Amino acid sequence: MRVGDPGSTERTAQKRKFPSPPHSSNGHSPQDTSTSPIKKKKKPGLLNNNSKEQDGRNDFYCWVCHREGQVLCCELCPRVYHAKCLRLTSEPEGDWFCPECEKITVAECIETQSKAMTMLTIEQLSYLLKFAIQKMKQPGTDAFQKPVPLEQHPDYAEYIFHPMDLCTLEKNAKKKMYGCTEAFLADAKWILHNCIIYNGGPDVHRYPC
Ligand SMILES: [Zn+2]
Ligand SMILES: [Zn+2]
Repeated sequence: MRVGDPGSTERTAQKRKFPSPPHSSNGHSPQDTSTSPIKKKKKPGLLNNNSKEQDGRNDFYCWVCHREGQVLCCELCPRVYHAKCLRLTSEPEGDWFCPECEKITVAECIETQSKAMTMLTIEQLSYLLKFAIQKMKQPGTDAFQKPVPLEQHPDYAEYIFHPMDLCTLEKNAKKKMYGCTEAFLADAKWILHNCIIYNGGPDVHRYPC
């Protein structure tokens, strides 16, 4: 574990604050973290082939703060989160689904979907999303219109797990891949997430490689 990893400090503090929840009497000692859904991600640049295989299903950077650390991995999508960024007071047990997947599930489930969505077919939604994407292609967004060229940025794939750009969003909308606006938005947000990870944001400290 890296020295100064904020995730580890917080985890210890949490454990002290919430020593033993009632459902923890399953034979595991509080120190036993082998079954914890929280996985420690290594710095992508330091990954060897083996660990890439083990951790290949998830992003390396928190979806909320775009930093590394000890993260929760969603079972449905590649997104990962710091427990503190989700303001979780205890670690979730068992399979865990992230807030984006929860929103999409609620929006697509017939029983919970909004009235607006019940009146839209997937074809109509796909047609409307095309207009939204046209709006997003404003002047100055050239860098986000096409996939980042790996010839010019050979290290891009080391940092970016799920590349996204406006043309890919458009293709996905055409293929009717989005069952609700939430699914489209969740996909579109990869553009910002990736941009902050690769280029650094005002708050993000990128370790020199
Ligand atoms: Zn975070
Ligand atoms: Zn998810």
